[in-house]
Amino acid sequence: MIIIKTKEEIEILREGGRRLATVLQKLKAKVASGISTKELDLYAEKLIRDGGDEPAFLNYRPSGAKSPFPASLCVSVNDEVVHGIPNKNKILKEGDIVSLDLGIKHRGLFTDSAITVPVGNISSGSEKLLEVTERALYVGIESAIAGNTTGDIGYAIEQFVHSRPDKNKNQQYGIVEVLAGHGVGKYIHEDPYIPNFGKKGKGEKLVPGMVVALEPMLNNGTKNVTIDDDEWTFRTADGKRSAHFEHTILITESEAQILTKV
Ligand code: MG
Ligand code: MG
Repeated sequence: MIIIKTKEEIEILREGGRRLATVLQKLKAKVASGISTKELDLYAEKLIRDGGDEPAFLNYRPSGAKSPFPASLCVSVNDEVVHGIPNKNKILKEGDIVSLDLGIKHRGLFTDSAITVPVGNISSGSEKLLEVTERALYVGIESAIAGNTTGDIGYAIEQFVHSRPDKNKNQQYGIVEVLAGHGVGKYIHEDPYIPNFGKKGKGEKLVPGMVVALEPMLNNGTKNVTIDDDEWTFRTADGKRSAHFEHTILITESEAQILTKV
């Protein structure tokens, strides 16, 4: 069931989104060669709690999961797609790319956002992957207008990614299909389910007051992914790199409003 948010709820989500974006910017500034993924997680938790909010992912257990997620921040490095578990022995190094995915609960309501950040200097191929994935998110946001459907969003993202936006004829980006965008607000994951591929006019109709998280995940090779023995970490099946950008947005009659921004 799709939950339409009230004006009051939207204002709480707007403030929560602003706080979340502020935390993500601080985390981004902290990303550097030599830091462990656990340090980033602890910093995220401290910033969230100092603001009087709660980390949404800590101990989150979706239906079907065997164990709750053990951290506040998902930190996914290089070939890890999403849901990487922070670890004090996992040290970032020059040339890595690292995805930071964070949810917060502010006054009872959830927002969700992710960025992928370079560690120092990265290869031009990785730079392009980040650029194209972030652009794919904005292409999705542009199509997220009341009257359109979830299929229209997926279609727009898919068409963009397959248009070889980096002009490199040999480059193919795999769109991860087993993970998707989603409604958000009262819960971390609500209806509708919003794949990053799709058909025009299919899926759920978007209406004003819907709050959704769009989150394309692009791989530098195959779209196929595997899950580690920890039962959380998704990684690319061919070991190539993956990037992830996500915003929580509000659907309106005209262009969507990004809630997870400073
Ligand atoms: Mg997320
Ligand atoms: Mg999400």
